[in-house]
Amino acid sequence: MRFRTLQQLAEICTAENKSIGEFMLEEQARESGRSTDQEFRKMADYYQVMKEAVHKGLTEDTTSRSGLTGLDAQRVMSYMSGSVPAVGEEACRAMAFALSVSEVNASMGRIIATPTAGSCGIIPGVFVSAQQRFGWDDQRLVMGLFSAGAIGYVIANNSFVSGAEGGCQAEVGSAIGMASGAMVELRGGSPAQAVHAVGLALKNTLGLICDPVGGLVEIPCIVRNGFGAVNALAAADMALAGVQSAIPSDEVVQVMYEAGSAMPAKYRETAKGGLAQTPTGKQMMQELNLKKRSKDKK
Ligand code: SF4
Repeated sequence: MRFRTLQQLAEICTAENKSIGEFMLEEQARESGRSTDQEFRKMADYYQVMKEAVHKGLTEDTTSRSGLTGLDAQRVMSYMSGSVPAVGEEACRAMAFALSVSEVNASMGRIIATPTAGSCGIIPGVFVSAQQRFGWDDQRLVMGLFSAGAIGYVIANNSFVSGAEGGCQAEVGSAIGMASGAMVELRGGSPAQAVHAVGLALKNTLGLICDPVGGLVEIPCIVRNGFGAVNALAAADMALAGVQSAIPSDEVVQVMYEAGSAMPAKYRETAKGGLAQTPTGKQMMQELNLKKRSKDKK
């Protein structure tokens, strides 16, 4: 790839008069040795899976195997049909769609890791709801996925994208950064604005620990995806309005790396701290273990 930082990404795209998505598609084709058509088709297939996951979570039973989570996306959708959501209808829909995909993941359905399974709801939540709202065709959204991919590539190469390495800031935080930058581009913003959105978004999740109850990607992961979609929209709006990340986005990525490196192991997907070790978190796991043992005996 011809870029390693977000600044380089914005500079090259500006100099070559390309969107981040167009540039990433070309770079990916060059790296893989496949044609841009082939790369595009592969990404288009991923987008279909994302749309299917949104639909599945809104229409089928997403109760997870543990029984701890499921059907919250449907709760939010039916709440929306009877009330005016505090965050507004569009953000609420993005939130519901993100919950939906995350619940499909927790109930062993098919999702695309963006960048990981734990944070798989945020990009589809933002993209699919925006597609419905603005009437965009799939092609546009697929190009948006290439933008998101370029941003994820920089974060992954300079910091972390997994909770086990850098806490939830790395997983959910990265997905929010990817979705917000891509959303700026989808709305017609410049590469520089897209990069500012990434910094604005990441700042808001710095230090977020990874503390899944029982090590299952359910509590608090699913709701964090819902919140993540709303945050991504907020960061995109700020950047489109001209708000800049006062600390350059690459430096924010660096702080994420430092914070993740300094994070104790108990906050990095081990389920040994945080919400996983609250009295309720522990009790949930004890009950699950008891159920499992009695099932094993039968
Ligand atoms: S809490 Fe951990 S497992 Fe859950 S979404 Fe965040 S990083 Fe992933």
